Amino acid sequence: MVEALQAITGMNDILPEQTPVWQYFEETVTDLLASYGYKQIRTPIMEYTGLFKRSIGEVTDIVEKEMYTLDKEDGKSYALRPENTAAVVRSMIEHGLTHAGRVQKLWYYGPMFRRERPQKGRYRQFHQIGVEVFNLAGPDIDAELIALTWRLWKLLGIESAVTLELNSLGSLEARNNYKAALVDYLTTYKDQLDKDSQSRLSTNPLRILDTKIESTKTILVNAPKFTDFIDEDSSEHFKGLLMRLDTLGIPYVLNTNLVRGLDYYNKTVFEWTTTALGAQGTVCGGGRYDGLFEQIGGKPTFGVGFAMGVERLILLLKELGKIPTALNQLDCYFVAVGEGTDALALKLSEQIRDQFPQLKLQVNTGGGNFKNQLKKADNSCARYALILGENELSQQKLVCKPLRDDTPQQLVDWADIASHLKQLLK
Ligand code: ATP
Ligand code: MG
Repeated sequence: MVEALQAITGMNDILPEQTPVWQYFEETVTDLLASYGYKQIRTPIMEYTGLFKRSIGEVTDIVEKEMYTLDKEDGKSYALRPENTAAVVRSMIEHGLTHAGRVQKLWYYGPMFRRERPQKGRYRQFHQIGVEVFNLAGPDIDAELIALTWRLWKLLGIESAVTLELNSLGSLEARNNYKAALVDYLTTYKDQLDKDSQSRLSTNPLRILDTKIESTKTILVNAPKFTDFIDEDSSEHFKGLLMRLDTLGIPYVLNTNLVRGLDYYNKTVFEWTTTALGAQGTVCGGGRYDGLFEQIGGKPTFGVGFAMGVERLILLLKELGKIPTALNQLDCYFVAVGEGTDALALKLSEQIRDQFPQLKLQVNTGGGNFKNQLKKADNSCARYALILGENELSQQKLVCKPLRDDTPQQLVDWADIASHLKQLLK
């Protein structure tokens, strides 16, 4: 016998019993985004590797070790997208959709790929739903994005389990001044820093603020604070955002150590975190990236966005018991027993669908005796069984049998069955 193959480590099948919750989540988010006037954009799952190098930054975890790349004979290097902001920006530039200050409010959804160590909430293929807004400079749009996510958590019933963490990274110049001061301070403690932080000291010192290592955290307590370096414009912007969040009654925590993994952020950065998922606690992260267009060859364009991790949010829904019952539940299961009934069942069910297209109706296939088919009806979790036996056939009627309560079954004329079901399922 040949050995059975398995899926690639860290890349998961989403099995039929899991898809209803995925669909519930996707519909909730996409309906919400439409209600705020956002439009979907779809970009390819592969891009030239250079796009991610230029946008995310050469010395980030993603570019250094997490990308799946493919180097072709044509001398070009391709990468499975590790995130989608860079690709959306690339697309805006390529199609001129943000020229002359044109505002775009966009969202995307799809798989992302990162070669990480797989564990709960961390996979090699995972899904993000993200939002990107272009050509809006003020804190009002930052506030809208946060209000939108806050509304989503409330719709999903998880608002008490998530915390909004906020920070401002200021302008590039302010950040560079701060970086220099931080490096000065940390260099005096170099020997006491963990290995990762030691190497980040020369490559990406701000990421040290993000450390999970306790001894390094202790050293950071007395480190220079960015609040002493922030530029006037960014400071005003940040105050404007906090004022709006206060007006909206959205709770937040200021976290000066929040820097986010990618290089391209400035001013506002935020994360929604939870303690309910262990180490993989960030369910959504985003911020402003006003310099990104220029970094990848476009004109200066304001940008702000966020991405949420779908797997983590679904884990959180499960953890909190917030998955609605009876998702995608069948309304009816059509049971047909006896000579000539299965073809008629098909015909009648098509007629019912003509009159009641929203009805979720499954017709028994593959035969079986009455007991056997009724059992399948019950296992399908349908609310009603429609039964066509030889008796019903001769009377041109169907039995409509409730499967989830004790109300009596009814005998209904073929012609009336769709309207009967409409009444029942109102
Ligand atoms: P983390 O700090 O957990 O590695 P990140 O900062 O790398 O997250 P982002 O690049 O900001 O994550 O992506 C946005 C969101 O996508 C994250 O908040 C998370 O919910 C989700 N995410 C990121 N990487 C993974 C992964 N490997 N598996 C599952 N979800 C992920
Ligand atoms: Mg990461």
